[in-house]
Amino acid sequence: MDVRNRVGGARRSGRILALTSCVAALLGIPGAPRAASRALETAFDAWSDGATLRLDYQHAGLAGKEEIFALDGPRREGPWPGSRANLVDPLNLGPYRFEVRDRATNRVLFAQGFASIYGEWEETDEAQSVRRSFHESLRFPFPRRPVQVDLLRRGKDNAFRAAATFLVDPASPAVDRGPVTGRGSVWTIFENGPPESKVDLLVLGDGYTSAQMSVFHEDARRLAALLFTTPPFQERKADFNVRAIDTPSEDSGVDRPSDGVFRRSALGVTYDIFGSERYALTLDNRTLREAAAQAPYEFIEILINGEKYGGGGIYNLFATCATRSGSTPYIFVHEFGHHFAALADEYYTSPVAYDTAKEIVEPWEPNITAFLDPPSLKWKDLVDPATPLPTPWGKEEFDAFEAKIQERRKAIRARHAPEAEMDALFKEELDWTKPFLARQPHASRVGVFEGAGYRSKGLYRSSTDCIMFTRNRDRFCPVCARAIERVIDWVAGR
Ligand SMILES: [Zn+2]
Repeated sequence: MDVRNRVGGARRSGRILALTSCVAALLGIPGAPRAASRALETAFDAWSDGATLRLDYQHAGLAGKEEIFALDGPRREGPWPGSRANLVDPLNLGPYRFEVRDRATNRVLFAQGFASIYGEWEETDEAQSVRRSFHESLRFPFPRRPVQVDLLRRGKDNAFRAAATFLVDPASPAVDRGPVTGRGSVWTIFENGPPESKVDLLVLGDGYTSAQMSVFHEDARRLAALLFTTPPFQERKADFNVRAIDTPSEDSGVDRPSDGVFRRSALGVTYDIFGSERYALTLDNRTLREAAAQAPYEFIEILINGEKYGGGGIYNLFATCATRSGSTPYIFVHEFGHHFAALADEYYTSPVAYDTAKEIVEPWEPNITAFLDPPSLKWKDLVDPATPLPTPWGKEEFDAFEAKIQERRKAIRARHAPEAEMDALFKEELDWTKPFLARQPHASRVGVFEGAGYRSKGLYRSSTDCIMFTRNRDRFCPVCARAIERVIDWVAGR
C-alpha cells in the first residue's frame, strides 16, 4: 500500500501544480478559466503536434520465467482524441502502465494504466510450459521530439516496476506515416462534443457480412442505448460520444473452435480463448487497430454477430459481446465494466481458466478486497459504521444453489445443446438469485461480503449484488459505480 501510494503521490504532485495554476487563474481576472485552459493547450502544443502515435510491439514469454517486449514499430494515426490537460493518469488501475518521457528533460508527458491479453494468458496452465506472443499497442499524443516509453509492470506488492523501454524518434523514417485506410465507413450513434472533452466509445462489428450491415447498425444502436440506460452511464451520457465503423466480414459469424466452427471474420474474434468456451476475444491486434484508427476513440466495443453466449473485456483494450444471446444485455454491460473501469469479476462460482491456487494478496482492482488490513479498506468511506465487517449474508444457501446450476451448465455444454437451453438455465438462476440476494439483511448496504474474484474464501465484494457478481443487470454496486465515474471524469477532462 505504501509503495502504491508513493507512485500515486508522485503523479498527484504533477496534477496539483496544474490545479494550483487553474485555481490561481480562477481567483484572478474574470475570464481566467479560459486563460488557464489555453495555458494547458499551449503546454500540450509545445510537445505534441496533435496527432496520435501508436507504438506496436510483441509481448511474449513464459509465466514467471521470461517476459519480453519486442518492438514492432511506431505508426502515425489521426488526431489525438483524448484530453489535452489530463495526460498523466492518476487512476492507478491495471497490471501494466506506460510512461512517455521527453528524452531531453526526462519530464513525464503522458502515462496510462492498462491490462493485456498476455497478462491474462500468464495465469493459465498453458503459460507454465508454452511460450506465446501477443501483439499489443500503446497510443499517445504524437511527440515533436524524441521520447522514451517506459513499460511498467505491477508486482505483488502493487508497486509498478520498469519492465521495458522503447525509444521513439518521431522524425525517424521508421514511423509508418501511411494513410489510414477505409475512411468513410465511420458513422455516429450520438455525439455530444469535441473528442478531447468527451469519452469516445467506438463500436465495431465482427462476423457481419456486407449484406448484414443493417443488422450491425441495429445491434450497435440497441446496445449503445442499453448501456446508457444503466447507471451511472445513464446520468453521464452527456460526457460521451459513440461512433461506429462498418467492418464487413466475408462470412457470417465468428470462430467457435469447440463447436468445430471457423469463419473468415473481419476482426478475427474467436470463442474458446484460453480454453474457456464463453471467452471471446480477437488476438489480431494490428487488424483491429488499423480498423479503429479511422475514428477518434478511447474505448472499443466489438459486437459479435451470433447467438452463442460469450464475450470478454480487457481494461483499456476492448470489450466483446455476443449480440443475440438471451444474456446479451448483461454480457454487454458486465464486460464493458472490465474494459472501461478495470472492474474485477465479483463472482466466484463459475469455472474459469485461471490458476487460483496462489496465495491471496490485496488485488489492485477497485471493487474486490482481500480485507487483510481492515483500517485501509478501499471503500471504507462508503461503509456505515453500524454495518458489521465482514458482512454476513446467506452464503451457504447461495453456494448450494449455485453448485447445482454449475453442474447443469457443464452438462448442457458437454452435449452441445441448443443455446436456448443455456438461456433458460440462466433465467432460472437469476429468478432465484435476484430475490435471494435482495432480501439479505444487509442487501442495501456497502460492506465486505465474502466470495469474489473467483474465490469462495479470502476475497470480498462490497455489496450482496452487482452486475459484476450476477446476471442481474439492474445496477452496478456503489463501489463499481464510483470507479466508473472516476474514469469518466478523467477521460472527459474534468
Ligand atoms: Zn460491483
